[in-house]
This record gives sequence, structure tokens and C-alpha cells, in this order.
Amino acid sequence: MILVLLGPPGAGKGTQANLLETDRSLVKLSTGDMLRAAVAAGTELGRKAGDIMERGALVPDDIVIGLIAERLDRGGEGEGFILDGFPRTIAQAEALNRLLAERGKTLDAVVEMQVDDDALVKRIIGRFTCANCGEGYHDDFKTPKVPGVCDRCGSREFVRRRDDNEEVVRSRLEAYHAQTKPLINYYAKQGKLKSVDGMAEIGQVRRAIGRALDGSA
Ligand code: AMP
Repeated sequence: MILVLLGPPGAGKGTQANLLETDRSLVKLSTGDMLRAAVAAGTELGRKAGDIMERGALVPDDIVIGLIAERLDRGGEGEGFILDGFPRTIAQAEALNRLLAERGKTLDAVVEMQVDDDALVKRIIGRFTCANCGEGYHDDFKTPKVPGVCDRCGSREFVRRRDDNEEVVRSRLEAYHAQTKPLINYYAKQGKLKSVDGMAEIGQVRRAIGRALDGSA
């Protein structure tokens, strides 16, 4: 199965992609994670992308398409992929169709997570992740059960993203509305779009995505 998770920054795509890895034995492909890894490694691609990401703008299509193509060529370990944060433009969506067709695959479904813009800023600004295993947390909505200790792996180190501050979040939302939102219509016309309420609590969203994928919603 190949799935796309679509929604604005802070909609919960990363969280739900992690849950789908467990629920459906899929492998998450996040262009944001790949780009952050390139920035941390100090590669040429990372240097190019880093400045753009700090402004909250989109990295050029050819860069992210190249990353996805490379990753698809390495193959999957599970039952397929969940694309988190890709595609983000119509050109990327068309490239994805092409990349999948060349490999004899097709996109099964696009899950759109619907959330209010006002809630997003609050959600993004409070979030942090475990530096070791990547488990996601939030100052208000999901704190570790033992303060300062990751529930999943026991690590005591946490990180916050550099672009999770109010000014950059506003730019990321603008980029979403201008460049990514047209994908909702694009995929609706292809009959692939399934929309869920991303404002609900994490477990409820997880179940709504499950029902949407199984065709019972
Ligand atoms: P994310 O982790 O998905 O929120 O992505 C963080 C940042 O990486 C975005 O604000 C963009 O600057 C860049 N980025 C990630 N995925 C893409 C993409 N598919 N197209 C363009 N830029 C991207």
C-alpha cells in the first residue's frame, strides 16, 4: 500500500505516520526528516535546503523529488510506504505518479487531515521529540509519563525543531495554502482523497484513518 498524508504543518501527519507504521507495517518516508538529516550531516544538499527551511519556504521540487526517487529505489521493508510531507506541490504530485508508474506501483490513497489554522500555531510551538527514538511530545497535549524521560526508549534527551517558532510557522502555513492546498482538489478529482478530522484526539484520528482506509468511512 502506498499512502500520502496531506495537511498543513502541525496537523499531526508525523504522529499518524508513526502509528500507521505499526498498524499497517508500512515504512514512513518524510522529506522533512530527510532534509533535516542532510542539514545535520552538512552535505551540499543540506546547505542549500537549510536556509530555505529556516525561512519556512518550500525547498525546490527537483531536490525533494530526487530524495524520494532515491529512497524508492532502495525499496521497502514493509507492506509499502506512507509519504509524510510529500508531495507538497502539483509538480511533486505529478513526479510521484511518474516515479511510481516507472516502478510498477500506484498510489492507493491520500489522507487529508483537516485542522484549523489557529490551532496549528499552538500545536507546533509546544512540540518536541525524543532525540534518540523520535517519539513526538507536546508541552500541553502529550507530556512524557515520567517528566524528562521518553516513554518509548527511556532517553532523557529531547529536541525542538528550529523552524517551530511563531514567525516561521506563519510562513510555513502561507506556503501550505498557496502551494500545497491545491493538491486536495487534485486528488479528489482522482477519487483518491479521504478526509479525516485532524482536530480530534490522537487515538480518535488514528481510528478515523483506519476506517477511511478500510472503506468504512
Ligand atoms: P516538515 O518536516 O514536513 O514540516 O518539513 C520541514 C521543511 O522542510 C518545510 O517547511 C520545507 O522547507 C521542507 N520540505 C519538506 N518536505 C518538502 C517538500 N515535499 N517540498 C518542499 N519542501 C519540503
